[in-house]
Amino acid sequence: MTTNKKADTIDFTKARLVSTYNELSKHLADSDDIISRLTRRLQTTLDIKHIINMFVEEVGKLISFDQFEYSCETAGSYLTSEKRAAHSCNYKLKLQNDNLGEVSLTRSKKFKEEELAILERLMGTLVFPLKNALMYKHALDASLQDALTGCGNKRALDAALTQEAELSKRHNHPLSIVTIDIDHFKNINDQYGHAAGDDILKQLVESMINSARKSDLCYRSGGEEFIVLLNKTSEVGARIIAERLRLAVSKTRFVHGDKIIPLTISLGTATFRNDEKLASLMERSDKALYKAKSKGRNKVVSAEFQERKQATSASKNQQSA
Ligand code: GH3
Ligand code: MG
Ligand code: MG
Repeated sequence: MTTNKKADTIDFTKARLVSTYNELSKHLADSDDIISRLTRRLQTTLDIKHIINMFVEEVGKLISFDQFEYSCETAGSYLTSEKRAAHSCNYKLKLQNDNLGEVSLTRSKKFKEEELAILERLMGTLVFPLKNALMYKHALDASLQDALTGCGNKRALDAALTQEAELSKRHNHPLSIVTIDIDHFKNINDQYGHAAGDDILKQLVESMINSARKSDLCYRSGGEEFIVLLNKTSEVGARIIAERLRLAVSKTRFVHGDKIIPLTISLGTATFRNDEKLASLMERSDKALYKAKSKGRNKVVSAEFQERKQATSASKNQQSA
């Protein structure tokens, strides 16, 4: 293990490092304590960030470094500082054919062999808790994801909406939602088959994500119904984005096998009022959507616009009565 750019792979299933420990008696006296404490601490959490923080704390007691980085394709990346020094040691962590990510330490002084041996021993303590935490994260992610389209499911929507509503109240930012329903989807299933319908649902999500803003969050709220959360977005902004989604979908070429399947969506928008319940926001958006359906489909209707229209006609009726 030297100061190299390419990561070494440690396959902890083979435990190839054990033999080097005997040469390290001085450091190992300290590291034994640290390893047993680290082992105990790592058993207390399934949170990847906590695990990495604990690991970094304990490694720091034996080895000095400027920057520690852990990165993993499925879990993101954790950095202790932005400062990257000249010398680095990099490890790919692997256990029973599972890639657990990559660890890298950098500092201005070259790492000694004894230090690297201790680090490798500490990593032996890290791998099992890390694997459990990655599996837990994977299970959590899957429980919030719609299996067919890959977008968030109803549970994820409820959690995100609660969080966004809190943020909207705290920072006084507008929050809007768009409720979306495919037009005559039953006909598509009947005409082209259920598999074609499934294919269309996937392509629809792609089309909507491509035409939404990065910050917009798309969820499948039911069979062929979706909700997009628009944070920091007012009533007017929501109508503009909903119109953009509608247009993008109507122009998308949905394909199943050799068939091109025409498709449109209807959309209702609603903007959160600070004093209303989230169920009421969803209900108003839903009502606007059904207005869009009754107006002929492939349309956007704003709940507030509709409510103002109704209030005006009610007051006109009162005046004429
Ligand atoms: P409208 O324009 O009024 O919304 O008409 P619609 O046909 O889209 O509405 P309806 O509620 O009558 O039918 C919805 C259809 O969506 C029926 C159901 O079989 C289909 N559907 C719901 N979930 C899925 C799914 O996961 N895959 C497929 N292929 N079809 C689904
Ligand atoms: Mg529906
Ligand atoms: Mg429908």
